[in-house]
Amino acid sequence: MNFARIETLYFNYVQIAFDHCNTYIDLEKRLHENNLQCNNCSPNNTICIHEFLKHEIKEKMRNEYFISVIFSALSLEAYIYELGAIYLSDKYVKENLDKLTVPSKYIIVLELISKNQVDKSHQWYYLLNKLISTRNKLVHSKSRKLDVSLMSENPEKFITELNETNKRLISPLDAINAIISVHKYIKLFLPNNIVFLLIDENKYYEMYKQMK
Ligand SMILES: [Zn+2]
Repeated sequence: MNFARIETLYFNYVQIAFDHCNTYIDLEKRLHENNLQCNNCSPNNTICIHEFLKHEIKEKMRNEYFISVIFSALSLEAYIYELGAIYLSDKYVKENLDKLTVPSKYIIVLELISKNQVDKSHQWYYLLNKLISTRNKLVHSKSRKLDVSLMSENPEKFITELNETNKRLISPLDAINAIISVHKYIKLFLPNNIVFLLIDENKYYEMYKQMK
């Protein structure tokens, strides 16, 4: 196994999630800037430049949202796979854990490695579940409530639906918080010599606080 390659990829996923969450938040701020607010600029039904510009921003936000949330999920999927493969063996993970959901993989791998019971009432587990279920809604047509075809046909309506269902869908900031919470919990839960490939969660927590 080429650890160096895996390590690089894993950190890349986290970095991509952060960068795109940042862009999403910047775009969201721009949406509320004064120069984009319309005061009846098109009384004769001509195209309103404000709505046009806002539409463009929303379209970009949609893309940033997808990239950020999907890479957040990808990073946590990659992480638990590597942890399991390293401490329980590649073969064990492939034969016994591959079909499980990501949150279940976390429970089983962490409990097998530590021989302790995982605390599922903790925030890390709630956020991990919400992140993975959002990822599934976004990428699996079968399980989605949200009409992803709207993305290209009517991005504005898509964003509206996204907002309406956002009790079920994770925000990009909470997706980042999921990465940080999982890492914080693992660090407390697993003995030091087993903590492997962890991001510097303090550095990322500082970045997270600045984005908020
Ligand atoms: Zn206008």
